[in-house]
Amino acid sequence: MIHDAIAPEKLQAGIRVRIMTTIVTRFAPSPTGFLHLGHAYSAIIAWETAQKANGRFLLRLEDIDPERCRQDFAAAIEEDLAWLGLVWEKPVRRQSAHMADYRAALRRLDAKGVLYPCFCSRKDIEMAAHAPHDLNEGTPANLYPGTCRSLDRARSQEQIAAGRPYVLRLDTAKAQRLCGPLSFHDAAAGTIAIHPGRLGDVVLARRDIPASYHLCVTLDDHLQGVTLVTRGDDLLPATHIHRLLQALLDLSTPDYRHHPLLKGAEGRRLSKRDGAWSLRALRADGKTPRDIRAMAGLQAE
Ligand SMILES: [Zn+2]
Repeated sequence: MIHDAIAPEKLQAGIRVRIMTTIVTRFAPSPTGFLHLGHAYSAIIAWETAQKANGRFLLRLEDIDPERCRQDFAAAIEEDLAWLGLVWEKPVRRQSAHMADYRAALRRLDAKGVLYPCFCSRKDIEMAAHAPHDLNEGTPANLYPGTCRSLDRARSQEQIAAGRPYVLRLDTAKAQRLCGPLSFHDAAAGTIAIHPGRLGDVVLARRDIPASYHLCVTLDDHLQGVTLVTRGDDLLPATHIHRLLQALLDLSTPDYRHHPLLKGAEGRRLSKRDGAWSLRALRADGKTPRDIRAMAGLQAE
């Protein structure tokens, strides 16, 4: 993050200068399980970045899916982070309390003509809607092929009225044509020009959940004034979509820091199913927050 000092003579001369900003970063887990060592790594990196810059650290609970998110997991997340010694601002933003924001953003996208209903099977839907952790596996072979992109609008409306299940997808190519070339800044790689087509026409809403990971995370980072998004590099492909959504919705573009994911014993990425790596289990095993830092390859404070 570049902080340009504002010279008074420049202001008087009307020269556009970058306003001095403080770093605002966040940790944004979904309460669908207990936090593991990989989450601790990501949360500590974000927190320390804010600390070093005298910035702000936010916690956000990404809990739009009522079938997978649980209150006890939400409580456990806060307890585990506090145990690690992290401090975050209150109140914590819970996405489930802000569905009206996401609906309004969807309407704005629809007004731009970049959404279309898709009636394909649930399997296709799940691949894109709620599986940000599978994004790196998004090979051309399992990308949504755009089957419903050119469906007749009147016919689609009839199907919707008849109660046929559908999702709303982003017409990524059309959106990119509207917005022109875009880029974002990554702490490791520098300026990256976006190629959102890599993820295809992602799902932005389901009939039962009028929001999606991509839409909520992009809007929330803007609404919360986040200036630096700290997250795993599994989400780097998603950032291309998020940059496009920022342009479509006139949202601010934060800087990004995509960090490598921690791997388990066999080089596999950690998942919420690997109970042994959960902070709860490690704590029960006698590990201290200092041990957790060491295990995550982070230096002691
Ligand atoms: Zn479809």
